[in-house]
Amino acid sequence: MFESLKNLLKHFTGGQETEATAPATATQQHATTPQAAKTSDSPYHALGDFNLGIGSIGPANRSDIDQKVLNDMYQSIAAGEFNIPANGAVPEICVDGRTDKDGKRKSAPCAAGGTLSIVYGSDLGGTPATNDINEMQLTTRIIHTLKQKGHDTGVHGDDHSPCGCGACSKAPTIYQHITEHIQDIASLTSQYGISLTEVEKVAILQQAKNRLNQPGFFAEDRATIVQTAQDCGAGYEELVGAHNELGIALNTRSGTTVDRAAIRAKYGPQYDIFVVDAWAFETAAKDINSNGSSEYTQRIAKAITLQNVATASVLGHGSLRIIPIA
Ligand SMILES: [Zn+2]
Repeated sequence: MFESLKNLLKHFTGGQETEATAPATATQQHATTPQAAKTSDSPYHALGDFNLGIGSIGPANRSDIDQKVLNDMYQSIAAGEFNIPANGAVPEICVDGRTDKDGKRKSAPCAAGGTLSIVYGSDLGGTPATNDINEMQLTTRIIHTLKQKGHDTGVHGDDHSPCGCGACSKAPTIYQHITEHIQDIASLTSQYGISLTEVEKVAILQQAKNRLNQPGFFAEDRATIVQTAQDCGAGYEELVGAHNELGIALNTRSGTTVDRAAIRAKYGPQYDIFVVDAWAFETAAKDINSNGSSEYTQRIAKAITLQNVATASVLGHGSLRIIPIA
């Protein structure tokens, strides 16, 4: 399991060996991370172990879930039982666990907000911002850049909300959450092999603050950002129903994603999971890094990771477990 996480780590650290490469059982690995105080005997960390999870989505708020079934689902997801080939090399669709009215999703790499994850990640991790650009212009710029590089782009809404994508509707709150919880978020990512330097933390924190202080950076009507993406040619999924996510699949298997429909078929329609295809983050960072330096590619990849964790923390409850697929 740690082989792939090690490889992921190497991607993000430019190949530096760290103590994480030493042979370790899952138990030892957890035991050596003091900031992650596990609250149960589950082999999987929950957001609450990292002082994260201010939202409501999670197993503790559900009365329709069988704990044994849930544990079996976590194990099967971790074993890669539901991994299927993904079309594309960069995040395109949202981590959202729901499906469209036909019970389907595109088979494409997932990140919080779909392509918008790359918009926010490139903003937070890129060269220091000038305040002459707003969120809508940034969205347009990133989508055009991705299209020029041959990537498909995508966003979504749902059948009952003005802006049905939490990563988009709550983007200002997610930036705020990063400013308040960057240490907690970084503790979580380091648990999974992605360590931020102090310089990176300070830069991302400052960038989030700059945007929150920039008058009119965030569009007041959140749906206009999803619409802007569509106007630039991004695909659109209309998802239906309520959020039933019970965990976060952290997928590091290159070229794959997690089949939400197959999970429902096995366990029942109320068993959903957020899907984070972290393997796709570095390619996205590389392809939208206008600066061109590997330093910024790594910082943007890490900022995309932070945006994903912060989104999960804003929308999700502390009981939401992280299920690594290595
Ligand atoms: Zn979404």
